[in-house]
Amino acid sequence: MTHLVDGRTIAVTMATAAAAAAAVLSSGGITPTLAVLVPTDDAGAAWYVRSIQRAAGRTGITCQVHRMDGTPSADQIAGRLADLSRDPAVHGVVCQTPLPPGVALSGVGAAIPAGKDVDGANPASLGGLAAGLPGVFAPATAAAVLTILGHERIPLSGRRAVVVGRSAVVGKPAALMLLAGHATVTVAHSRTQDLPAVCREADILVAAAGRPQLIGADHVRPGAVVIDVGTSPADGGGLAGDVDAAAVTGIASVLTPVPGGVGPVTTAVLMRHTLLAAARAATSAG
Ligand code: NAP
Repeated sequence: MTHLVDGRTIAVTMATAAAAAAAVLSSGGITPTLAVLVPTDDAGAAWYVRSIQRAAGRTGITCQVHRMDGTPSADQIAGRLADLSRDPAVHGVVCQTPLPPGVALSGVGAAIPAGKDVDGANPASLGGLAAGLPGVFAPATAAAVLTILGHERIPLSGRRAVVVGRSAVVGKPAALMLLAGHATVTVAHSRTQDLPAVCREADILVAAAGRPQLIGADHVRPGAVVIDVGTSPADGGGLAGDVDAAAVTGIASVLTPVPGGVGPVTTAVLMRHTLLAAARAATSAG
């Protein structure tokens, strides 16, 4: 039997807790506020920003969306991120991807100070995560992977985890967080030899490659927990994960679907991070 994780229900539970925390902040005169900078008119980004706005609305967080016209340069994007970060009324700042050609998130993300870097875009946040510093915000998607594992009560300590993908926004931070949870972690990537054999070592397999159907039956050890982070455009519309869900059903003990798995929890994590940032700002101001 494979248990299919219901990310939407986890997100609703998180939203309820977040709304209560937002109400406490509001009663203290603080309006938790998230600013999202959108540097391109990418359709996927627009869809994701709308889901952030809906989650904020449900939670009692003010969500500002700042769209940039044309094809802004790295300096222009970094400048806007720095301006938004300077605003004391803004507690969290997100730089929505994709970025214009030639602009790297690691470059512009450095303009967001760690305290407001609620989606872990600043390389300093990744460094803090690697160093095990407290209070650092991980990228929301990577944090969502760990949130789901926690919600499903999957033990990490001493277990073998394999993360497929080594990007700074998903694979690396997810691997670091699994390591912090005392898992024994392997990070696989496009040069990994015999990926199925590497993946079969995993008690916990995190697929974050952005390659539909990459993970099939021969990648999954019986009873493994499989977290599918991939979101690629599916043939005929919709989203495709990295995991061939039909093939691994009956082999994996736990599987996150796409859509409806990691995605909704990611948005809920962003709200949780924003509230934490607002609470910390309030504490340091008081
Ligand atoms: P990325 O920057 O393109 O990184 C992909 C990683 O996968 C790279 O490390 C790459 O290896 C590796 N890879 C690619 N093909 C592979 C293969 N055949 N075998 C093994 N490894 C392979 O992507 P990303 O930003 O990390 O995103 C990964 C996926 O997560 C995408 O589908 C993205 O849309 C999705 N995502 C979902 C959410 C969510 O909320 N659910 C949020 C963010 C991203 P190399 O390093 O060797 O190139």
